Order: sequence, then C-alpha cells, then structure tokens
Amino acid sequence: MSEFVMENCTVNASGHLAFAGVDTTELAKEYGTPLMLLDEEKIRENARLYKNAMKKYFTGNSRPLYASKALSYKGIYRIMQEEGVGSDAVSCGEIYTAKSAGFDVSNMVFHGNNKTGDDLRYAVRVGIGRIVVDGEEELEELGKICKEQGIRQKIQLRITPGIDPHTHKAISTGRVDSKFGNAIVTGQAEKITRAALSNEGVELMGFHCHVGSQIFETEPFVSASAIMMEFIADMKKKTGFEAAELNLGGGFGVRYVKQHPYFDYEKAIEELSVKIKEQAIRYGVKMPDIMLEPGRSMVAAAGITLYTVGSVKEIPEMKNYVSIDGGMTDNPRYALYQSQYEAVIANKAAEKADYICSIAGRCCESGDLIAENIPLQKAKKGDILAVFVTGAYNYSMASNYNRLPRPAIVTVKDGKSAVAVKRESYEDLIRNDV
Ligand SMILES: *Cc1c(COP(=O)(O)O)cnc(C)c1O
Repeated sequence: MSEFVMENCTVNASGHLAFAGVDTTELAKEYGTPLMLLDEEKIRENARLYKNAMKKYFTGNSRPLYASKALSYKGIYRIMQEEGVGSDAVSCGEIYTAKSAGFDVSNMVFHGNNKTGDDLRYAVRVGIGRIVVDGEEELEELGKICKEQGIRQKIQLRITPGIDPHTHKAISTGRVDSKFGNAIVTGQAEKITRAALSNEGVELMGFHCHVGSQIFETEPFVSASAIMMEFIADMKKKTGFEAAELNLGGGFGVRYVKQHPYFDYEKAIEELSVKIKEQAIRYGVKMPDIMLEPGRSMVAAAGITLYTVGSVKEIPEMKNYVSIDGGMTDNPRYALYQSQYEAVIANKAAEKADYICSIAGRCCESGDLIAENIPLQKAKKGDILAVFVTGAYNYSMASNYNRLPRPAIVTVKDGKSAVAVKRESYEDLIRNDV
C-alpha cells in the first residue's frame, strides 16, 4: 500500500518519490521541468479493465471508447488500439491526431454540439465509425454531405435524459437545460429520431447520452440507462425502429485526493448490465450493444506532474506560497473549478508533510494556483514538487498563456522512460506568427 493517493507512487531507498518504480528526481534531471509523467502500464490496465468487463457483462459488440479529450496525443491512440479499445473525438483535431497515429477511425465516435460543415465532411470522408448527431440542423447538413459523397453514415442521436448526476433527480430542469442533445420530456428527442429515420443519408444505429463527470455513484448511470431504455421502447412502439446501440457516455469518478472514495468500475458495469437487461425484458426490446466513453477514469490516475520550486514566500500569519515553474498553463483545473490535488516534495518524500502552503504558478494571474493550504514537506528553492493524478484534463487543457511552452510528456514503463510528446520550444511558440 502506498501512503500516497496513487498506488504507483512510493518512497524509494533514497527517500525520493518513485513513480512506477522510477526515481522522479532523476526524471526531472533528465528531462527538465515542468514535466508530465505517464505510467503506461496503468493506462493499459485501465483499458483492459473496461474492455474485459464490458465483454463479460454486455452483448456482442459492446465496447469502451476512450474519451480522448481527457488526454490527446498520438501515442495514447496507439495504446488504445493495441488494447482493442475504441475512442471518441470532439473535434477534427482529435480525429486527425488519431489518424496520424495509425488509429482505425472506423472505431471512433464523433461528438460535438456545433460541428461545422467542414467537420462533418472531414469525418465522413475519413470513414469515422459513428457521428453522434446533436441537433436537427446538423442532421440535415450531414444528410446532404452524405448524399454528395455517396455514403450512408452510421449515426447515434444525442439524447438528454434529464438526470442531475449530483442530486440524482430525474427530469430536473437543470439537466434538460443543456447546450447538448435533445430532451425526451420536451418531445425533441422523438422529433429528431423521426427526422433521422427519414433521412436517406444516414443510418440510425441508436442513442447516446452523457450525464456528467467525476461521479462516484452508479445510481445516476442506472437511472439514465433506465430512461434511455424506456425511450428505446417508446420509439420502437411509435416508429418501429429498434435501437441496436446504446451509448451511455463517460463520467465515472476518479480519486484525486484521499477523501475521495474508491469507485469500482467493474462493479458499476456489472450493475448497469443487470439493470439494462431487466429493462430490455420489461419493455420487450432486444438488448442493445452498450458503449461507454471513459475519459478521466482511463488516464487521470496514470499521470503526475513534476515542477521545480523557484521561491517560497511566507506572509506572516497569512499564507505560505510555494511557487513552481508551471501552473495554470499546464493545469488549469484549480483555476477553473477549484479542483483538489495532493502533492509531495519528491526529493523529500520520506519527510513529514507538516508545512501548510499554497502552490502558485508563474503566470501573471493571482488565480494561477494548483492548490491552496495543503500539507507539504518544508520546501525550498530547487526542490522538485510532484502533483498527483494529473493525467486527465491537464495536458489537454494546457495553453501558451504568457507565452509559456507546454511541458513534455514522458511515459514510464518497465523501469524505463521515453519522450511521448516533446517539450515545446520558443520556436514552436512563434511558428504561426507572420
Ligand atoms: C467528457 C465526455 C466524456 C468523458 O467523460 P469523463 O468524465 O472524462 O469520463 C465522454 N463522453 C462525452 C460525450 C463527453 O462529453
């Protein structure tokens, strides 16, 4: 058992933080900071967990699709492909990245509440597996594009089941009020289903919903699946169309800090399968192939970020600031949502963490923080700070604000490390400047 929030983080014989068995202070020396580290075996483990559980508990072609907005670079698509896991994309940039890595995009699902005509044309042309159509204008435009290209595109329709994942209230107006999808209660879901069935450019495969993110209970997913199965049954009765696929999106929670619970993904999948089978029998519809789109839970706990401490500022009786050579540019989640993180001074990992401080980035923004009032080992200039559970929505949300180059990504596997994404250079920063 690790004393840290991540099992793959331990203290080695030198009293340093080891990540997947490798001394992090050595990695900081070799590759520089800020540095994002990924435990490749952990990502593969997660991919296998989803794949095997879905094979075990669901029918035929049921499968996980990695939600690549969580972390998108060429190597991650190769890992998913090798593990037999599909992917989803929310932009042509992600589709392009996947294609460039040799990923088979017929195993990819394309999302977005406002796909442009160019987006749709590109996705259809490269042979994307499914397009999750968000609204009627998109459906019409896609139908035209498919006719032009002489293709019949397989689609799913984005449905809003009306679940608030945090209060678990069904049909809460809050969740019907969404920029995404077509609500069942307003009749818009039925309307777009009818429109899709009469559109010759597309082949309707089934329905999609996504209730939210960082959810630790199975109940919201179970409720959503029940509402979706009822909708499938209702559409069968009214139109004769029986959905072959039900895509339940992503959202399983991740333990970022020790107060967060453990979430048993396999158990959640089992519970979902039991409920969906019950519903299929109750409503007399066939069991659809199930898709899940885990993003965060696939990669978050496979990543940490290393920084170098530049200064320690103590404001008497107020606050201690430990400033690092990264910040909101590589991890904007605290600035955006006050997301909680735990951290350790990697070169003092065996020492007691009894110094309460806030971690500040180097941008010209007071809000540029990674954490506030967390316990840390007593820090000084030159120390290496490691922030845990940064694999998801960190690098993918990174920016060049203040013209700071994005960090490198280094993967660690079998005691060896390798660059997966190079550190940006100043030359990269001005590449498009004329
Ligand atoms: C964000 C998103 C996901 C992934 O959510 P996680 O919470 O990271 O698992 C999956 N599907 C859709 C449509 C999304 O928008």
